Amino acid sequence: MLTDYHIHTPLCHHAEGEPAEYIRAAQAAGLAEIGFSDHNPMATQFDNWRMAPEDLPRYLAMIDQAQRDHADFPVRLGLECDYIPGYEDHIRWLARQADWDYLIGSVHYIAPDWEVDNPYPEHIKRWAQQPVEDVWERYFAAYTRMAASGLFDFLAHPDLVKKFGNRPEGDLSRFYTTSLEAIADTGAVLEVSTAGLRKAAREIYPSRTFLELAHARHIPIVINSDAHAPAEVAHEFAKAVELVKAVGYTSVTRFHKRQKTQILL
Ligand code: ZN
Ligand code: FE
Ligand code: FE
Ligand code: ZN
Repeated sequence: MLTDYHIHTPLCHHAEGEPAEYIRAAQAAGLAEIGFSDHNPMATQFDNWRMAPEDLPRYLAMIDQAQRDHADFPVRLGLECDYIPGYEDHIRWLARQADWDYLIGSVHYIAPDWEVDNPYPEHIKRWAQQPVEDVWERYFAAYTRMAASGLFDFLAHPDLVKKFGNRPEGDLSRFYTTSLEAIADTGAVLEVSTAGLRKAAREIYPSRTFLELAHARHIPIVINSDAHAPAEVAHEFAKAVELVKAVGYTSVTRFHKRQKTQILL
């Protein structure tokens, strides 16, 4: 049975639906567990798409309440943390603020003023200012650094840089290998995210080539939707299962109190 551990809440200002609605959707989809993982707070107001610093206690109380209300269904507590060089101590601080089931690492920022997945014009215009290759190199350099930090239980949407459909020519494995080595070295789990199917990329994160290279290095996976609305829970999971089985995976990872277990597909 599958799980969905990458789920947002309205506290990040760009997701809708209460935890109870997401849980109902998970049960309807036949999942074994759900886990919430909203965008982490920074120490100060940082951007407009994450929970405010003072909302962390509200987030913890909200998930705690959801757990109490659904004693018959496992509801996990996670957090999607932005990996930004220089903020490693902030992640360590966050790790001490709750009894997390998992921390997710994500690269959205590839420069202090550039979020690679942000559809607003001031971010989109950056794409026209340099070759796609350079953007991809910058993104995967950040991803490698995130993996090497060893701060996270699993690493989100591995090739998010393709979100708007911008892809360099040819075999893309040249961008993937250093990240994959860092992931394998630190024992992190890789997210297979169906969110890419809902974007211009029209493809699961990561690509099949990336996943084949991950499988060759025995990197474990977890399948998630990155739901920002209850209807997105377990979205296109059948496609994700088909893909991971096709490249040779036979199990997915479950998380509890930052310990991981493999469950056969
Ligand atoms: Zn989000
Ligand atoms: Fe993300
Ligand atoms: Fe997310
Ligand atoms: Zn995400």
